[in-house]
Amino acid sequence: MHQRTVPCHYFAPQKTEEALEILSRYGEEIKIIAGGTDLLVQYYDRLYEVGSWLDLKNIKELKEIKIHQNQMEIGAMVTHTQLEKSEDIKKYFPILSQAAADIGSPQIRNRGTIGGNIVNASPAGDLLAPLMAYDAQFKLQSNQREMIVPAEEFFVGPKKTILKPDQLLTRIILPLPSERTYGSWIKIGKRKALIIATITLALVVEMAEDNKTIKDVRTCLGSVAPTPIEIKEIRKKMAGKNFSQLDFNQLGQIVEDKISPIDDIRGTREYRKDVAKNIMINALEEIGSARRSYK
Ligand SMILES: Cc1cc2nc3c(=O)[nH]c(=O)nc-3n(C[C@H](O)[C@H](O)[C@H](O)COP(=O)(O)OP(=O)(O)OC[C@H]3O[C@@H](n4cnc5c(N)ncnc54)[C@H](O)[C@@H]3O)c2cc1C
Repeated sequence: MHQRTVPCHYFAPQKTEEALEILSRYGEEIKIIAGGTDLLVQYYDRLYEVGSWLDLKNIKELKEIKIHQNQMEIGAMVTHTQLEKSEDIKKYFPILSQAAADIGSPQIRNRGTIGGNIVNASPAGDLLAPLMAYDAQFKLQSNQREMIVPAEEFFVGPKKTILKPDQLLTRIILPLPSERTYGSWIKIGKRKALIIATITLALVVEMAEDNKTIKDVRTCLGSVAPTPIEIKEIRKKMAGKNFSQLDFNQLGQIVEDKISPIDDIRGTREYRKDVAKNIMINALEEIGSARRSYK
C-alpha cells in the first residue's frame, strides 16, 4: 500500500502576492489548481502523489475582465462562462467569446478557466487559436519578477510551456482591435456535445480605414501541430489587397500545405488537411460577407 511521507497542505490564499510567496516556498512540491477540470481528470488515479495544493479560487483580482490603456486584461481565473457572457469580450473579441461558448458543457464552462486552458497547453485547447489570432500576451509572475510573453512563445509542445514551477499565469493581455476588425471561429469535432476538437481555426482580419484594403491578418489553427500555430504566409498573401482580389481556394490550399497534423483517434492526417483547407475557405467567405454589411 502507498505510504505518504510528505505532509499534505492545502492553501487557498486571497491575494496573488500570497500565492506567489507560497509558490516560491514549495516550487515543484505544490500543484496549482484553478477549476480543476483538466487537473482532476489527469490526477484522478494519482491524487495521492500530490504533496500540496495551491487553490486559486479565492483570488478575486484574477477573476476580473477590464480595459486598461487600450488593452483588455483578463484574469487567469476568468471562467469560460464569463468569457462567453461578457459584453466587452463579445464586442471586442467575438471569436474568443464564441470559442468559450463551444467548450464542453455548462458545468465545465462554469468551472474551467482561461488560465487552466492555456497552462494545460493541450493542442486541442479551444481558446488557444483565438488568443493567438488576437495577438495575446501572457503575464507570468513569480515572487522575484514578472514578465510578459507573446502567446506564440509560451507554448513549446503538447502540454509543454515555458512556465516555471515558481510562476503563476496571472493575466491575459489583448490589444483592443480597431472597429474594422472581423473574425471567424470554426471548430470541427466528431460529436455534438463535449466535443474535443479535431481541428480549430481562428481567422482575424483587420481592414484599413477605407474598409476595402486588408491591413493585417492572423490565421491560427489548433489540433494540427504540437502547439497552436499561425500560418504567416496568409498574412503576406492578403495584406494590401482588396477582398474581391482574393483567391479563397488558393488561400485554403496554403493552409493545407503548411500544416502537418498527425493521425489520431479523432481524425487522420489527410482528413485534417482537407478539413483545414475547407474551413479556411468558409472563414474567408464569412468575413467577406460580414465586411460587405459594415456601415
Ligand atoms: C468533460 C470535459 C469536457 C471538456 N471540453 C473541453 C473543450 O471542449 N474544449 C477545451 O478546450 N477544453 C475542454 N476541456 C478541458 C478543460 O475544461 C479546459 O482546458 C479548462 O479550461 C481547464 O481549466 P481549469 O481551470 O479547470 O484548469 P485546471 O484543471 O485547474 O488546471 C489545468 C492546468 O493548469 C495549471 N494552472 C491553472 N491555472 C493556472 C495559473 N493561473 N497559473 C499557473 N498554472 C495554472 C494547473 O496546475 C494544471 O496543470 C474539457 C474537460 C472535461 C473534463
